[in-house]
Amino acid sequence: MSELPTTGREWHLVARPHGWPTPEDFALREAAVPEPGPGQILVRNTHMSVDPYMRGRMNDVKSYVPPFQLDQPMDGGAVGRVLASNAEGFTVGDHVLHGLGWREYAVLDGKRAVQVDPELAPLSAYLGVLGMPGLTAYAGLLEVTSFKEGDAVFVSGAAGAVGSLVGQIAKLKGASRVIGSAGSDEKVKLLLEEYGFDAAFNYKTGPVAEQLKEAAPDGIDVYFDNVGGEHLEAAINSLNVHGRATICGMIAQYNATEPSPAPRNLAMVIGKRLRLQGLLVSDHAALQPQFVQEVAGWIRSGELKYVETVVDGIDNAAEAFLGLLRGENTGKMIVALGD
Ligand code: NDP
Repeated sequence: MSELPTTGREWHLVARPHGWPTPEDFALREAAVPEPGPGQILVRNTHMSVDPYMRGRMNDVKSYVPPFQLDQPMDGGAVGRVLASNAEGFTVGDHVLHGLGWREYAVLDGKRAVQVDPELAPLSAYLGVLGMPGLTAYAGLLEVTSFKEGDAVFVSGAAGAVGSLVGQIAKLKGASRVIGSAGSDEKVKLLLEEYGFDAAFNYKTGPVAEQLKEAAPDGIDVYFDNVGGEHLEAAINSLNVHGRATICGMIAQYNATEPSPAPRNLAMVIGKRLRLQGLLVSDHAALQPQFVQEVAGWIRSGELKYVETVVDGIDNAAEAFLGLLRGENTGKMIVALGD
């Protein structure tokens, strides 16, 4: 057996950002890699995820996930290869998904890792299309908004990991019209030409409400919100009577230092009898097997497409996270850490 690593690099949060995070808020540090104890595995992380929700964890506030601690390793989704195992059910060479990203090597209880098969899908897919963002899209659309055939669906953040799947799943399930918004003309082109959206617009080139009205002259029945603020206000304007909205994310506000004035039209919820419902992906774990089976089938048949933006090297992980907030990703933002 080749020698096991005794040290590895890991990212620490070293300052709590106020507003937009900067590279100075993060530090890449060398740390000891302990030997795995009883029931534990040692994993060489090959890919790690950077996700918008991590911005919330940089604030010292109580939320549905605890905040990152200063001068401690950050964590998040990762996949990797088992280098040593004292845990039943895991052997050297197995590939696993777990929650100790932002580092080269992870030591954790086998109970907190799940096996993944690199023959079935590339490892990075377990962090994106077949992972947490994929389940968010699937559960959010099908379970939370109670999507039904014939619905007209609008999704914001539509070229991102969650949004690109929401739009495609809606089409596959019989939406009458799918509209997406994204932050560049290239992303809009991708939505129209690759993902089969019926209409799409660049929210940076004009007011969202006007562009949405033009794209959905007969209104929308479902809004999948990844953005909040002006997007949510525009969607409330365009939602038809008994429309439903899944409130999945509000990325337009994650770096804001003042509360957003929008949506200013919440009173319309009454007259239109709208249902706005929050979503937490962790509530929908029971849907996982059905989600993987159906989405993997669509990928195999070529009916569902996905792209990833892959940043190379652990040195660039903090920059990848900042890039995600700036919209530099198309599809899932992944950091490849090597073999
Ligand atoms: P994405 O892959 O969509 O990446 C984030 C994207 O947000 C960027 O690429 C950028 O695209 C867009 N964005 C950034 N700032 C703004 C802004 N001010 N206005 C509009 N768009 C902006 O990330 P995910 O797919 O992983 O996540 C999408 C949303 O879903 C996030 O809000 C996230 O917090 C939420 N989420 C919620 C979960 C839950 O359980 N509730 C689980 C997973 C995700 P562009 O170029 O188009 O601006």
